[in-house]
Amino acid sequence: MAEPISLWFEAALLPEGWSNHVRLSLADGLICAVKSSTPRAPGEPNHGIAIPGLCNLHSHAFQRGMAGLAETSGPGGDDFWSWREVMYRFLDRLQPEDVQAIAALAYVEMLESGFTRVGEFHYLHHGPDGIPYDGRAQMAEAIVEAAQESGIALTLLCCFYAHSDFGAQPPKPSQRRFINSLDGFAELFAQSSSALRGLADANIGIAPHSLRAVTPEELSQLLLLSSTAPLHIHAAEQIREVEASRAYLGASPVHWLIDHAGVDGRWCLVHATHMTPSEVIALARSKAVAGLCPQTEANLGDGIFPARDYLGAGGRFGLGTDSNILIDAATELRGIDYAQRLNLRRRNMLAQGASSGRTLFDAALTGGAQALGVPGSGLAVGASADIVALDAADVAITARRGDPVLDGWIYAGRSTPIRSVWRRGRRVVTKGRHVARTQIARRYRKILPRLMS
Ligand SMILES: [Zn+2]
Repeated sequence: MAEPISLWFEAALLPEGWSNHVRLSLADGLICAVKSSTPRAPGEPNHGIAIPGLCNLHSHAFQRGMAGLAETSGPGGDDFWSWREVMYRFLDRLQPEDVQAIAALAYVEMLESGFTRVGEFHYLHHGPDGIPYDGRAQMAEAIVEAAQESGIALTLLCCFYAHSDFGAQPPKPSQRRFINSLDGFAELFAQSSSALRGLADANIGIAPHSLRAVTPEELSQLLLLSSTAPLHIHAAEQIREVEASRAYLGASPVHWLIDHAGVDGRWCLVHATHMTPSEVIALARSKAVAGLCPQTEANLGDGIFPARDYLGAGGRFGLGTDSNILIDAATELRGIDYAQRLNLRRRNMLAQGASSGRTLFDAALTGGAQALGVPGSGLAVGASADIVALDAADVAITARRGDPVLDGWIYAGRSTPIRSVWRRGRRVVTKGRHVARTQIARRYRKILPRLMS
């Protein structure tokens, strides 16, 4: 066992609440002791204010490479579907080394912004011709390498994609890199599981892409692959998808999944934007997590998640950066709340007598961990030492203590007050920058011109 290291903080958000003058002792990547109200030793560094790292439950890392490239108006008007065509053209060129370079940069940005684990919803599996690589999980291995380089914890959400639309429509040529048979997917899932073996804290989930891309029969086969893995699916992101689901399956995606797929605490329904009031209640009662991706949902014009009613019914949610148009945990948290405020013309509706920032942070912390199938114990003895340190002197949080620190970070910072991040006890961000940012950004700049040409 390695010699424990100690970190002293002016304040820390512990599972039981805020404490002042906290020393966390770390050994072998875990928190081995937590001591509150303890003075700083002479010469001991003051690391500021500690909060637990968040889970980013929904990312398509490669899309970071095309962020900002779909912001020009097209001739027929733009929506999610026209954005998707731009995305398909971009991904057509990607080789495993490109995916690794883009994902590593995305993961660096996640760590710098307060995420210490990513749920990578991975569907770009095959070569540009649609033929599986010799090692079927070669693209997954590129994701694993990117996680290793950056130090972020990885939940690989292995995606099954078979059809272009409801009614088992054949896939389009632009989707050929995603497509697997059930047998091919079982092989991919096994090989991807093997690829994760050397990566600390990694786990794997099953991700039927959507009810557009997976038939009910295929879904029931996929559920036989594991009785414990997290289950993630895109659902009800678009009105057109909801209407097609009603036409083909006789119910909207959320309604159909709850009635037919045994949705429970293992599930994450990503987006779940368009729900009827009864679906809101049913999803909340199912104990599944709604995977909210407010920046992407705003960028794509998806719609507004009914957060007030859903949280009022006891619903669980976590945060995702999805298309990675902009990677920032505080912006995602603020985005959930501001959409409600603009829509309902009221303030602080999600908090019910408490701080909005604290309410959102706590919910995202526990919901994100649940959705990725990991313990969400925060800064506690036995937990992975995934610690985010805020600069107590930052102008957005100075002179604040307790929940207003989170409100300052989430609502009032122009730049992030995050100074340091430890992931499994290793300091991966210092002075606000990831320790490998320079090399990873240099490689990213090198590969991008070819992908843009
Ligand atoms: Zn997505």
